[in-house]
Amino acid sequence: PVVLGIETSCDETGVGLVRDGVLLGEALSTSMDEHARYGGVVPEIAARAHVQAIVPCVRAALASAGMAASDIGAVAVTAGPGLATALHVGVSAAKAYATALGVPLYGVHHLAGHLAADLVDGQPLPNPLIALIVSGGHTSLLQVGDLARDPIVHLGDTLDDAAGECFDKVARVLGLSYPGGPAVDRGAAGHDPTALAFPRPLLGRNDAPYTFSFSGLKTAVARWAESHPDSGVASGDVIASFQEAVVDVLTAKAIRACRDRGIADLLIVGGVAANSRLREVAASRCAAAGIRLRVPARRRCTDNGVMIAALGDLLVRAGAPPSPPDLAAMPGAYLERAQLGVPVTL
Ligand code: ATP
Ligand code: MG
Ligand code: FE
Repeated sequence: PVVLGIETSCDETGVGLVRDGVLLGEALSTSMDEHARYGGVVPEIAARAHVQAIVPCVRAALASAGMAASDIGAVAVTAGPGLATALHVGVSAAKAYATALGVPLYGVHHLAGHLAADLVDGQPLPNPLIALIVSGGHTSLLQVGDLARDPIVHLGDTLDDAAGECFDKVARVLGLSYPGGPAVDRGAAGHDPTALAFPRPLLGRNDAPYTFSFSGLKTAVARWAESHPDSGVASGDVIASFQEAVVDVLTAKAIRACRDRGIADLLIVGGVAANSRLREVAASRCAAAGIRLRVPARRRCTDNGVMIAALGDLLVRAGAPPSPPDLAAMPGAYLERAQLGVPVTL
């Protein structure tokens, strides 16, 4: 069947249409600009934007596929985690489409969606693999088997800020534009990543090999900027040195997880996986370590509906049970399995 995927966990209204691993249509609308003056996503503004964008996005995705709503055979939606008000819009819309069309509904985990982002552009995912999720709200190392069936094993998370959050906060401190991650990426380009030695929190710590911490790094950059208002170091070098510290820690710990677990496949996903330097360093370090690296195309790293449709398609083909029709948004959902709102024991 054609799977309609709906994503509304943050500020992107994303819709995708996937059948048997093939992308048929997509649409994306963002309220990013409306949040810029507040320096972060405002839940009420995001939710209102989702309400306005969701039906037009579904129609646009169908038009791009040359299909009608009656061609949809299943609906997948991000049930959590994310902003409660924002999730609620997508879940309500998904339930309405599923009920009106008489097709099954699949509530899925947003981070499992990120893990599935590469499925429509590449080969099936290797099993098992080590996954590094680096996004606005999460920084996690996971061991993943069959995404549709197996429990996901958490190896480690961040103790404080997520990597994307760190990019966004440091960008603000350095006076860069919103959103911060892409601005840091651009600002660092062509500059010297070794100009300043910012701390690499928890790097090489055998008692916390897969644990991250970024709040201290953020503070270190803020202190440096305050105490060197007239320094000769170009701001591009500061940005590049900060970015290098994040990239160094992320890639070193991900590769260590692969080595320790004897797994030669690494998948890096989430918004920060769009970062040029992370993609570059991960590629060279993985090549040196004999690890096969998978990173989705840039536009599939940040939130989108295609990844949710791809995960729904995977679940449908695996014969997973649909979610109950009273599926509710789960803002604080923990990632132990891809599908949410289904009373199955793994
Ligand atoms: P989560 O997936 O944890 O719920 P989210 O959905 O808000 O969080 P994503 O859309 O996956 O997050 O990613 C957004 C984050 O990615 C932001 O923090 C943003 O700054 C960061 N980001 C996007 N592009 C880049 C880039 N090129 N370099 C670094 N960070 C980036
Ligand atoms: Mg976003
Ligand atoms: Fe996300």
